Amino acid sequence: MRQSALYTKTRRETPRDEVSKNARLLVRGGFVNKEMAGVYSYLPLGVMVLRKIENIIREEMNSIGGQEVYLSVLQNPHPWKMSGRWNDSTMSDWFKTRNSEFGLGNTHEEPLAYSMRYHISSYKDLPIYVYQIQSKFRKELRAKSGLLRGREFIMKDLYSFNKDTAGLDTFYEKCARSYKKIFKRVGIGDKTYFTFASGGVFSKYSHEFQTINDAGEDTIYIDEEKGIAINKEVYTKKTVRELGLNEEKLIKKSAIEVGNIFKLGTRFSEALGLTYADKNGNDIPVVMGSYGIGLGRLMATLVEVLSDNKGIVWPESVSPFKLHLIELGSGLGKNLYNTLKKNNIDVLYDDRDITAGEKFTDADLLGIPWRFVVSPKTGKKIEIKKRTSKKAQIISYDEAIRKFS
Ligand code: ATP
Ligand code: MG
Repeated sequence: MRQSALYTKTRRETPRDEVSKNARLLVRGGFVNKEMAGVYSYLPLGVMVLRKIENIIREEMNSIGGQEVYLSVLQNPHPWKMSGRWNDSTMSDWFKTRNSEFGLGNTHEEPLAYSMRYHISSYKDLPIYVYQIQSKFRKELRAKSGLLRGREFIMKDLYSFNKDTAGLDTFYEKCARSYKKIFKRVGIGDKTYFTFASGGVFSKYSHEFQTINDAGEDTIYIDEEKGIAINKEVYTKKTVRELGLNEEKLIKKSAIEVGNIFKLGTRFSEALGLTYADKNGNDIPVVMGSYGIGLGRLMATLVEVLSDNKGIVWPESVSPFKLHLIELGSGLGKNLYNTLKKNNIDVLYDDRDITAGEKFTDADLLGIPWRFVVSPKTGKKIEIKKRTSKKAQIISYDEAIRKFS
């Protein structure tokens, strides 16, 4: 894409009303626009990153048997009244219409379990795994962390439906492994820990995926060797012992919860009458689990964890473009741009009529992993540099095509 055609502009000044690093950089780069506290719109570059994250998550969810749906955002109170959560204090962050006619999508256990009654009748119908990627709405009190904690935010939520707890346990492990893959693919695998957290009625612990970072609201205790952690909320001598960990070796860190997985058991199926007939014709409640990842929070986490003092550093897997071609001299990059495009190489071409300094500053802010420079000085060659490195290299057009296609 030609940068002169991109409608968004970068900003030099840090937005005064933003305190979080992720929102400051994403707003300055033109990835997102702040509408109000905790509410952001995604602009073209932001959508490109979001789609790449989304596709990685979608691929992994499909590979473990997930079927994608898109549930309604306006929610009928009926199934929530059946479960007792319509007026429950644990759901106090819910946005509802003035007369409480509808709820605005906060989570989807009830509506999905309720509609599953039409699709699950016998043990032969199970297991079923269903997920969606959609905006959620919550009255978050501390909406000061930019996209880490929005009042409107995008979540992938998967729900599992099994015959029994053994089926649930197997899928739970499978989903945990696929979450590990997701966090590795988006570039934070080495900083993200499988973390024991507080459970519900059904299981002693739930599990969170926590990425080490000072912007995080959680505190975790990490066992580096085993690659697992304990959330402070369940951290006791007893927990440490139960998990077979050595208290002396645990390292305390701040972390961001990028995802979580939860065993729900029969909490919702019993309340909503979601049962199946087993081989003997007995009605048995379906065993459920829920599995979330925040996409905006994940994008913000990448910014918090990987950026430097010049700007964002996107991993190649989610970067809006693979490379940023900068021409210093009008039209100098045109041939190379066309050749790159012909070879299906994803490139942002800075053909704008501004100074070299401004182009370099923008390139660092936008964080595309590779920078190409063509100028009267480089002649028929290209100066290439990685966003994360100080040193540049000179290569020929042919080498560039070979290396990047
Ligand atoms: P938290 O403890 O951070 O409030 P939660 O327990 O409310 O999270 P869930 O309801 O289980 O989270 O949501 C699943 C995932 O959605 C979380 O792991 C997180 O990645 C993301 N998420 C939750 N709340 C927000 C929010 N307000 N803004 C952005 N992402 C969020
Ligand atoms: Mg919450």
